[in-house]
Amino acid sequence: MAAALIDGKAIAASLRQSLAARVAGWTAKGHRAPGLAVVLVGEDPASQVYVASKARQTVEIGMVSVEHKLPVETSEAALLALIAQLNADPAIDGILVQLPLPPQINPDRVIEAIDPAKDVDGFHPVNVGRLSIGSRAFIPCTPRGSLHLIHSVRKDLSGLNAVVVGRSNIVGKPMAALLLAQSCTVTIAHSRTRDLDSVCRSADILVAAVGRPKMLDARYVKPGAIVIDVGINRITDPETGKSRLVGDMDFASAREVAGAITPVPGGVGPMTIACLLENTLDSYEVRIG
Ligand code: NDP
Repeated sequence: MAAALIDGKAIAASLRQSLAARVAGWTAKGHRAPGLAVVLVGEDPASQVYVASKARQTVEIGMVSVEHKLPVETSEAALLALIAQLNADPAIDGILVQLPLPPQINPDRVIEAIDPAKDVDGFHPVNVGRLSIGSRAFIPCTPRGSLHLIHSVRKDLSGLNAVVVGRSNIVGKPMAALLLAQSCTVTIAHSRTRDLDSVCRSADILVAAVGRPKMLDARYVKPGAIVIDVGINRITDPETGKSRLVGDMDFASAREVAGAITPVPGGVGPMTIACLLENTLDSYEVRIG
């Protein structure tokens, strides 16, 4: 039987609706609206699309979006000065610097300059450390969104085997930390993992965050598993010749075996921005409350 589809678009919409209600609750009491600052350096087309989409969704739920678009030749010192200004701004609850940055700017120095209490991307080493020791932290948006999707299928994950394929700092590692915090038995697989198919087949929860189109098919899926496909890969469809997005899972094949699976597009993707807004609202509530 084909797996149930995990509808990230609908789950993200319902999360945004609940966030909008939380925002309205605060502003009705006379508080200022939460503020998210997004900084874009240069004109990378994909980054421009992300930033526009973030700004639109921020405003839609009643928060304030502050956009800083800086020219591609911006110096690291100028960017750090802007971040210092945003750190000190009492109307800003979240700061996001859109990556990638141009080569003259060191992304690590920029991330470390953001006040950890406003680091809604969850990339600052303080938040990474807090997540790893299980204390309150901003959780990177894509793993946080992926966990919401897993919870939409099953609330109690305790004792389940989880396999995360990919060990990046923005997806794989924080995803593994989150699943460990849910008391899963977690395996992190990567490009040097041996017998990847049998490792993946041990997973009650399989998270694919590799960046290789359709790499994992039914042979990698345990019957009934929850499968979360984080991958976003643009390919040229051999039949139509048109470009389209596919995940790291071979969806049609994996769906025959999995219990529940996210599509690409329409799975993890929409959750990422919704969780950015959720992180910003959490940050605001700490400040207001
Ligand atoms: P990275 O390139 O940083 O990491 C990819 C990981 O996959 C690495 O750990 C790498 O292993 C591992 N890997 C590569 N090849 C293999 C292989 N043959 N077998 C097993 N593991 C392998 O990618 P990201 O984590 O940044 O992103 C992963 C995917 O998720 C991409 O498609 C990206 O576009 C997508 N993404 C989607 C988001 C969303 O909002 N939905 C947000 C962020 C990313 P090793 O470390 O050994 O090199």
